[in-house]
Amino acid sequence: MRPLIAGNWKMNTLRADGSALVAGLVEQRSRKDPGCDILVCPPFISLGLIEDIISGSPILLGAQDCHKEEFGAYTGGISAAMLSDAGCGFVILGHSERRAQNYETDLLVSQKVSAAHANDLVSIVCVGETLIDRDAGSTLSVVEEQLLGSVPKNANAKNTIIAYEPVWAIGTGKTPTTMQITEVHDHLRVLLENHFAEGGGFRILYGGSMNSSNAGEILSVKNVNGGLVGGASLTVKDFWAICTSF
Ligand code: PEP
Repeated sequence: MRPLIAGNWKMNTLRADGSALVAGLVEQRSRKDPGCDILVCPPFISLGLIEDIISGSPILLGAQDCHKEEFGAYTGGISAAMLSDAGCGFVILGHSERRAQNYETDLLVSQKVSAAHANDLVSIVCVGETLIDRDAGSTLSVVEEQLLGSVPKNANAKNTIIAYEPVWAIGTGKTPTTMQITEVHDHLRVLLENHFAEGGGFRILYGGSMNSSNAGEILSVKNVNGGLVGGASLTVKDFWAICTSF
């Protein structure tokens, strides 16, 4: 399967920064196909701007969240229908920052995933343990509960991507060992095969302090089908180096 490298810009970039960043990626991608799909997920307000710049290039566009409802009295909300209308093909859902800061539960994440699918968006569903979970030996049971609770039963390999993101590795510069990554990704693969149609075909991304130095090793792990990149997706140099490190 063709791997995916996704950039989660989080709440970063003003118009000029985002434009320059994505224009640089379009330029690099026009010279070389690195053998993976490349996705950028800017803040909602920049989606139109970024969509204009990537138009005609193979760079893909996604958002970082969506509301579970389509329309209505939800002040500040952005729906999956709006994202689709804005040119997005993807949406990150259940990121640990939203689970922690916005009290998002597995049930809410699964409702958002269903809304995304109903609007032809591919959802990137994030799961991952805290350091407390890992120290307690609960990593596999935690990611299992999140996966089965956050991904609707009718999800398939075309409309859903899983991202394993250990909470303690996000933005910290710490990464699990390749053995630890292998253990979790293999477990997720078995769960996908046992619970979903085409479970063997789902892409499972790794995310958490991925950078140009560690990407090659992490991306060579079996059942790692790409990366979800935060901090290192904010410069062309770092992000492109990750994209070309397969
Ligand atoms: C993320 O937040 O999805 C992420 C992987 O962040 P970072 O790469 O900065 O750890």
